[in-house]
Amino acid sequence: MKNIIISVDGASSTGKSSLAKALAKHYRFKHIDSGAMYRALTFYSLNHKLIDKNHFDIDTLVSHLPTIEIDFSSDDYVMLNGKIIEHEVRSMEVSNYVSIVAKESLFRKFMVTKQRELGKRGNVVMDGRDIGSVVFPDSTIKFYIEASMEVRVKRRFLELTQKNVDISLTDVISNIENRDHIDSSRDDSPLVIPKNAIVLTNNEEGLSHLIEVAISKIDSLF
Ligand code: C5P
Repeated sequence: MKNIIISVDGASSTGKSSLAKALAKHYRFKHIDSGAMYRALTFYSLNHKLIDKNHFDIDTLVSHLPTIEIDFSSDDYVMLNGKIIEHEVRSMEVSNYVSIVAKESLFRKFMVTKQRELGKRGNVVMDGRDIGSVVFPDSTIKFYIEASMEVRVKRRFLELTQKNVDISLTDVISNIENRDHIDSSRDDSPLVIPKNAIVLTNNEEGLSHLIEVAISKIDSLF
């Protein structure tokens, strides 16, 4: 039987990764957080001083690509050259630069190749911005998750403060708005609702409701 690919797209902090994780657990599939892959490349760029407020040395990063291995551990944590960096890629610094890295076509090509390779390894739930539209346009089922700005800011703020990140609401809002703008307006693979995607809203009913609805949609296919 063909591999099952469940794609979950949406803007940041809509709850798409939490939904993807829950679906992967329910169906015993692999969960691939494609955003974590762009975050890993951004983490690498910051560590090698290839990006800062004033410049982004794209050419040097491109020349390093053959030495950069981004993968996932058996428990779905993102790894850079064999080291788990799941915690490091969630920093505010990475969040502030990731969309600048992710808008470059050469880096997108690198990621899409890897994502398709990961998809071939077995049944997966993959979440991101372009999974149903570009990476796996023939996904078995596609979801697009929406949420109000209020829900998104609350989610992100709680997530960061629970990790003891010292952050203000204003910083959270400006990071979300900035990434929304770059991710939706870039030339290569902008954030769109993929063709044939099921649009679900993450609202006051909460994540467990969202999971229930998604599971019933998937089960109705088989
Ligand atoms: O999903 P998350 O918010 O962690 O993604 C971080 C960033 O990675 C996004 O803001 C976006 O710039 C980029 N991204 C992307 N394509 C994907 C997944 C993430 O461009 N498939």
